[in-house]
Amino acid sequence: MATVIQERNKCVGCGACAAICPKYWEMGGDGKAHMKGSTGSGEEAILVLEDVGCNADAANACPVKCIRIEE
Ligand code: SF4
Repeated sequence: MATVIQERNKCVGCGACAAICPKYWEMGGDGKAHMKGSTGSGEEAILVLEDVGCNADAANACPVKCIRIEE
């Protein structure tokens, strides 16, 4: 199991995560990335997965390191 966490307030809306990992990421109307299917408060989006999949690539690509994976 893996937990993917996005600190939404740090997101600068560069679009890298959505380009690299569109299965889980899309750009939202607020200019920040939205993690599809995530829960959590406005500040922190959380998604628990069996397999982290392309989220690892999204985390590596994020220029402000606001995506983190806990396994
Ligand atoms: S890569 Fe990081 S900064 Fe860029 S849109 Fe995704 S979460 Fe936001």
